[in-house]
Amino acid sequence: MAIDKSGTWWVGSEPQDIGGFLEAYSAKSYKTDLFRLSTCKCGGTAFSLLADEDEGCAQRICARCGEEHFLCDSEDYLEDATLEAWECVECEGAVANVGVGFSLYEDGEIRWLYVGARCAACGMLGCYSSWKVAYAPSKQLIEQA
Ligand SMILES: [Zn+2]
Ligand SMILES: [Zn+2]
Repeated sequence: MAIDKSGTWWVGSEPQDIGGFLEAYSAKSYKTDLFRLSTCKCGGTAFSLLADEDEGCAQRICARCGEEHFLCDSEDYLEDATLEAWECVECEGAVANVGVGFSLYEDGEIRWLYVGARCAACGMLGCYSSWKVAYAPSKQLIEQA
């Protein structure tokens, strides 16, 4: 993994760099304890990303097979959400690697989660949405990134 921090935006050389980015991004807040890279059933890791920052809702659509998936508990908030398509602010690319950072309570339940994205074209890293979980059981969401 290699993150280039020299420019305005952090740039990751590979999808897993989203994890390192989210750790740094959340360092002064609820820290990211665990990271999961979003991976489609087909094995694809490049997606169109739709998200609402305020309502805590994110959906990814696989660039390879078109499979749609709501990240973690996003579907619970869908009714009130206005989903906007992610676009890279650097190169206007619309395909990203996606991953979720989880901040955990001591008992392993989820306190907070962060949706990160890495532009598949230029590598720009960003956190696109984050929201509170804070209910139990919630551990199942870790495998629904
Ligand atoms: Zn797929
Ligand atoms: Zn880009």
